[in-house]
Amino acid sequence: MFGSVRKCVNSCFVNTYIVLRNAKLHTRPDFTKNNFNVTRGYYNTLEENHIQFFYQLLGEQRVIVNVSDLERYNVDWFRHLRGNSSIVLRPKTTEEVSHILSFCNQNRLAVCPQGGNTSMVGASVPIFDEIVINTDLMNEIISLDDTSGVLVCQAGCILENLNNYVNKKDLMIPLDLGAKGSCHIGGNVSTNAGGLRLLRYGNLHGNVLGLEVVKADGEILDCLNTLKKDNTGYHLKHLFIGSEGTLGFVTKVAIQCPPKPKSINLAFLGLQTYEKVLKAYKLAKHSLGEILSAVEVMDTPTMQLVNEHLHLPSPIGDYPFYLIIETSGSNEKHDLEKLNTFLDLSLVKHFVLNGTVTSEPSKCQAIWNIRERIPEAFHKDGYVFLYDVTLPLQNYYTLVKEIREYMGNKAHRVFGFGHLGDGNLHLQITVKKYSPEIKSFIEPYIFEKVIEMNGSISAEHGIGFLKAKYLHLAKSNAAINLMQDLKDVLDPKGILNPYKVLPRE
Ligand SMILES: Cc1cc2nc3c(=O)[nH]c(=O)nc-3n(C[C@H](O)[C@H](O)[C@H](O)COP(=O)(O)OP(=O)(O)OC[C@H]3O[C@@H](n4cnc5c(N)ncnc54)[C@H](O)[C@@H]3O)c2cc1C
Repeated sequence: MFGSVRKCVNSCFVNTYIVLRNAKLHTRPDFTKNNFNVTRGYYNTLEENHIQFFYQLLGEQRVIVNVSDLERYNVDWFRHLRGNSSIVLRPKTTEEVSHILSFCNQNRLAVCPQGGNTSMVGASVPIFDEIVINTDLMNEIISLDDTSGVLVCQAGCILENLNNYVNKKDLMIPLDLGAKGSCHIGGNVSTNAGGLRLLRYGNLHGNVLGLEVVKADGEILDCLNTLKKDNTGYHLKHLFIGSEGTLGFVTKVAIQCPPKPKSINLAFLGLQTYEKVLKAYKLAKHSLGEILSAVEVMDTPTMQLVNEHLHLPSPIGDYPFYLIIETSGSNEKHDLEKLNTFLDLSLVKHFVLNGTVTSEPSKCQAIWNIRERIPEAFHKDGYVFLYDVTLPLQNYYTLVKEIREYMGNKAHRVFGFGHLGDGNLHLQITVKKYSPEIKSFIEPYIFEKVIEMNGSISAEHGIGFLKAKYLHLAKSNAAINLMQDLKDVLDPKGILNPYKVLPRE
């Protein structure tokens, strides 16, 4: 029953990066400030003398003011939000970032730090006319110690490039996500990105050893520790991991890279019910142990969507649920033996109905393509409401069912998929056309449901602009007040990424 992946899947391989860029070419959203009724903060507006300062600092090539060139920095990946910034700065060094921030702080000019601009919560684009500081030219690898596995690099390095680089030394970046061809490591750190292998390698609070950060007033904070153990007082790096550019500007990252696995296997499985999905997951954990590296789930509407819009069919036919299970280890024979034992047991116990297994890199990539290109397929299905939440596993799919019922024919479709191993559900609702009425029908209802089910309203994408209004559902007043106090200490004039994370007044 477990054959190798069929040819049709193999031939569907497409470079994720190109796809992400192409997906951005259609429709132009309205300005966020109008759509979301936001009041501009008390900031100065850009003047000619400010632009002259930036020209002198960076040269004209690295200061973008041309209206058509500005568009891609003002609009988010989903094309839901649009800022109105009239300038993008592209520094190359920490010192340049420091000069920029010191100048902006003195002149009370708001800024929006930006990496690959793949944020899914509107964190990376300006809301009004904030100055965009993009890290795409901060792309130098500084050092790699192939014994300790510590990589030090600038914040603008693209995740996929970093992984290709460390692969040459038989190491890997302990983070992998669908946007890897576009997102920057500084953006990953600032969002505490999760991705496909968090289950195995943990999150960036553990893997990032040190950071260099520029504070709002331009002061350079050197916390670029490269040691695994360092208990010397407060661990300041943690403040910046996941703070979405609101507390400081990350300029350099030191990250621990584990050895690249020598043997990788991927199973694509079809299952009848969500209960069986849970049973198969539990069995996988127990049978595969230390070699289990990813467990992803998709429901049938998600698979249909990917097939319909991207012509990527299921390699095993149609089932209500699909699991992708990856093993990574150092001994092919040992890993395959373990995987086969798991697959045999899951069939005998009727947890799994059908499946296919491969270890061939191109076929593994073809399967990952189905999973990683899901967000692109939503683009083609109407306006997307995307909810990235965590739930206790017993409530994971209940939320999808309840929301599907609640939406009725108000939704075009409701989809559930995600990183099952981390309890991270991506629940997506597509509607034919956006309207404020439909948005207020869905929110805050959906977040209240998540909290009622003991979940978290953000699993890995952060709070950004879109969820700031609902932070109070997830955090106590005391916690929000302390967050605000920290913001006031580190950025007293509030110039760093305003309107994001903390609730607006
Ligand atoms: C197809 C697709 C799949 C995705 N899959 C996942 C996934 O599996 N897991 C996941 O966690 N996310 C995922 N994401 C979301 C997104 O890719 C991540 O949040 C990513 O970490 C953002 O990196 P970026 O460089 O694009 O940052 P941006 O989107 O440019 O910025 C994100 C936030 O970080 C801030 N920021 C960026 N650079 C800096 C810096 N140097 N210093 C300070 N602040 C900074 C920005 O101000 C903003 O608040 C996905 C997105 C897409 C489009």
